[in-house]
Amino acid sequence: MLPDPIRKFIDIASSLPSIGPRQATRLAFYLIQQGKGTISEIMKSLAGLGNLKPCANCFFPHENTKQVLCHICGDPKRNKSIIAIVEKETDLISLENTKKFMGRYLILGDLKKGILESNQKLRLNNLKAFIQKEFGGKAEEVIIAFNPTTYGNLNALAVANELKDYAKKITRLGRGIPTGGEIEFADEETLSEALDKRS
Ligand SMILES: [Zn+2]
Repeated sequence: MLPDPIRKFIDIASSLPSIGPRQATRLAFYLIQQGKGTISEIMKSLAGLGNLKPCANCFFPHENTKQVLCHICGDPKRNKSIIAIVEKETDLISLENTKKFMGRYLILGDLKKGILESNQKLRLNNLKAFIQKEFGGKAEEVIIAFNPTTYGNLNALAVANELKDYAKKITRLGRGIPTGGEIEFADEETLSEALDKRS
């Protein structure tokens, strides 16, 4: 009974994280009510997302078409010898918001299993090559900034093992982030403290 465009929209929207079929249906009728202007604005912003590309070093999306690096990795004032390894882009944003971390990052991608996946190993190899090239052996410090969940802990061990010959020290964020809690949702003060108390 639903027109085809609405059904297609519901299919796509409900495949997005935290949007179920009910919300997608409501969203479809809301957008139809808003009219063509709003819909074309949304289309433009989606196209903009599609034009971003991942940074060659940390994999955060950026729009520097002439550069392979994002603004963090391209910043000469940052100490690239201290590397924070995070799971998600939003974790990087949370750490940046503390204004306390002046190193570089590596985004590893969703830790859905207790072991590293092949694309995550490729990203670690990319980091190893960077460390070799920039520092001829070992980086000053690798901070593993994963959530203190079961998967986070298992993958932290795997990452530490992969990088043991590539850093003078390997640390994890300190207490403060509650067990099972998420970096993404920690307030800046808690996260600053967890950075200070890394060990
Ligand atoms: Zn970058």
